[in-house]
Amino acid sequence: MKTLLDRTLTEHIRALEAREYSSLELTRAYLDRIEEIDSEIGAYLFVNTDEALKQAVASDLRRRRGDTRSILDGIPYGAKDNLCTKGIPTTCGSRYLEHYVPPYSATVIERLAAAGCVFLGKLNMDEFAMGSTTEHSAFHPTKNPHDPTCSPGGSSGGSAAALAANEAVFTLGSDTGGSIRQPASHCGAVGIKPTYGSVSRYGLCAFASSLEQIGPLTRTVSENATILSFLQGQDPRDATSRSAPVDSREHTIALHTLRIGLPRELFSKDIAPEVRSRALDAAHMLEKLGALVEEVSLPSLTYAAPTYYILSAAEASSNLARMDGVRFGRRAEGVRDPEALYCRTRSEGFGEEVKRRILLGTFFLSRDRYDEYYKKAFRAKLLIQAEMTSCFANCHLLLSPTAFTSAPQLGIRESDPAAIHRRDLCTVPANLAGIPALTVPFGKDCCGLPIGVQLMGPLWSEPLLYKVGEELERIRAKEWGGR
Ligand code: GLN
Repeated sequence: MKTLLDRTLTEHIRALEAREYSSLELTRAYLDRIEEIDSEIGAYLFVNTDEALKQAVASDLRRRRGDTRSILDGIPYGAKDNLCTKGIPTTCGSRYLEHYVPPYSATVIERLAAAGCVFLGKLNMDEFAMGSTTEHSAFHPTKNPHDPTCSPGGSSGGSAAALAANEAVFTLGSDTGGSIRQPASHCGAVGIKPTYGSVSRYGLCAFASSLEQIGPLTRTVSENATILSFLQGQDPRDATSRSAPVDSREHTIALHTLRIGLPRELFSKDIAPEVRSRALDAAHMLEKLGALVEEVSLPSLTYAAPTYYILSAAEASSNLARMDGVRFGRRAEGVRDPEALYCRTRSEGFGEEVKRRILLGTFFLSRDRYDEYYKKAFRAKLLIQAEMTSCFANCHLLLSPTAFTSAPQLGIRESDPAAIHRRDLCTVPANLAGIPALTVPFGKDCCGLPIGVQLMGPLWSEPLLYKVGEELERIRAKEWGGR
């Protein structure tokens, strides 16, 4: 029998409407589950128990009065700990912000509150979203519920693990270079990096502002589309945010006229054979349904990973300069000299990976190196953007693996950080080009760990990505009984 926690968002919406159970019962069930399992998984950094129960009671009251705020009224969710939440700690997985309590909430948090959602708590992440395993969290690593010896991926590892361990109905993550899609892929979840500017970044602690977007992680594709529709839209507090052009919402292409490109560069020989074959299986099955599938080449993608790491480190070094020991967050004790205060606070507050990025970013932006690194990387980004745009003149979307492997083992210390960075090859192009990218679970590896397949489309093509994603979901259910 399905327990309350096994149900999907759609089922919860229907059941709440039918008064089968209340939001209070549902919220209690999730809080009990967190209590029972989270000491093992480590998905949460903060559990909002008392407030969540109050919000659930208020939602039930609204429902009794017949004035629910939206279909999501009473649905419990969790958010990555780099989204500011008024009155609730927001640490970014860093010692620097360990005791920081923001005086305001991110726009996405406000939008979900306005929709009546119940806020369960804050989810673990790599420090300041830098990493791909959640092991760079200053507090503790998160375990993959499919195999606790494995990482859930990162940096939104808490968001993906909470979903896989039934500790939330849906979660929010952020994706600067793959941080929603990679953990979603490793934990068997659906995750999207939306079109740049479609979701307000107000209240998201900035890592690399020109690349990142907030997005939902869910169990199914249609749920993902539902949640995203609540997050998207122009926000006066984020000057880069825009509303979708009206015609993009009607964007529908029949499957038998669909042209799908397989970018040769994203099927590199370094990708695990099982992961590569899942992506090829997905392409062949869509072909059987009438889509035209062909290999395409985007030579500039060879530079995508180094381009991403130069630009993101440069932006990080500038964004993180505000962590100065004076304005907010940590302050080293017993230091009077401002220079020493700055230095000590940052040395104590930041972890190894964050320090590496700040040092690199400062180097890339220094007067002597700017032309050689930052300017060149910026040009490479424009090239990647142009090449992807012209590719979409010939095909509707691109299909590729999401990550190089299934979930990696925890505790493997790679000696070469650049080798880890190269493994972001499949996810960083969408951030550099600003285009949307969706990952959908598609089969498992020989150990039973989930594998995701990625779909990328032109700006504002989310409806098409969701449509094809749902098709993959149907194929998966038929082939593997939903695995
Ligand atoms: N793994 C990438 C990095 O460490 C992506 C991070 C992200 O998307 N936030 O930069």
